[in-house]
Amino acid sequence: MTIDRPVPPGLQRYWNSPVAQFAQMECNDFEPWEKERHSIFSELLFGLIYDKWNGNKYGPLGDYGNWRSGQLIGKCDGEGVSIYEGGTYLGHNIAALAVDREGRVIDFDFNHNAVFDSTVEHAESRLVRRLFALNQIYDPWYALEREAPALRAEILHAERPRQRRSVFATAASDRSVPLRTGSYPMIQNDAVPQAPQEYSTLLKDVTIYTSLESCAQCSGIMCLASVKDVVYLQWDQGQFLIGNMMRKATAGQGAGFVSPRPIRGDEFGFQYFNDLNRLSEEFSRNVKYEPFYEGVDRITGQDIRITSGSVTSFLCTDEARNVFSRAHADLMNRSHAEFPDAKPADVPNAFTNEQVLIQARDYLSWVKMLNNRGAAHRV
Ligand SMILES: [Zn+2]
Repeated sequence: MTIDRPVPPGLQRYWNSPVAQFAQMECNDFEPWEKERHSIFSELLFGLIYDKWNGNKYGPLGDYGNWRSGQLIGKCDGEGVSIYEGGTYLGHNIAALAVDREGRVIDFDFNHNAVFDSTVEHAESRLVRRLFALNQIYDPWYALEREAPALRAEILHAERPRQRRSVFATAASDRSVPLRTGSYPMIQNDAVPQAPQEYSTLLKDVTIYTSLESCAQCSGIMCLASVKDVVYLQWDQGQFLIGNMMRKATAGQGAGFVSPRPIRGDEFGFQYFNDLNRLSEEFSRNVKYEPFYEGVDRITGQDIRITSGSVTSFLCTDEARNVFSRAHADLMNRSHAEFPDAKPADVPNAFTNEQVLIQARDYLSWVKMLNNRGAAHRV
């Protein structure tokens, strides 16, 4: 028995239709230059994961069998216990990358579940929260402080908007920029970014690349943040197409927040999308007969034997790592963009594909110097 209530506007169109009509997306059509652009960002994201790889989901000691023989360092003295590279497990090998309308990388983040002993520290939700926080960091103090000395404001004014622009090119330049106070006559109105407001549209031109299809939490956060597109590079069947359904329901409302447009990796020819899906399925089938892990539970001290085919276990295996490694190599082996001068026609300061490629390699080099699975920020 169900309890009657009015059908929400976003669902009216689908109320009496098959679930497939609600859950399936129409295919996106991309120009060849757009496919290249998406591929470069996707290879960058996979390169980040490859560089920060840690497959020790159940700890660095124990037996991961053939699944991780390529990550085996050796045996512990005397005990015959295998030890694997990677050290302490911080979270799953799942990451997300945010790119603005001009094609500038804003930031990346990883899944941090293990760091926080939590099931909700997912890459996309962490990244979105960080993007909002970054926006606040880059607000200059003199836009907030009525009594700030004018001279100091003058010194800083040339620098801070430039910094901010580099982080939030799209959102910052979209805003109207009234001075908050009339105290700084020598500062041009258009040179001073205003304090945080209009945050509801801040990410409206941001694309998030995520290595694994988003869950309900992350789809919800990206919807509330008005993220434009979400590109996912492996599907997660456990998430029951929630991103698709949210897109359709919110777009159908004609008002309020709209969920990001989902884009699958294979829609722009990213071969690793299919590779990961296939290998993950094979893993789920075979792990029943060949345990992913046998060893001691770090918390209970009991012997454990893991035979469940979870995608996060798959994302620790040699086969998964090989996929990320190949994508990383693809990025490094691109000598030039195939469409070097291509860029979105309606975005004046957009990076060309060649600039996107140069940026991607620079960004990867920078991340390789970081010891963390995230950029160093104060938030
Ligand atoms: Zn999630």
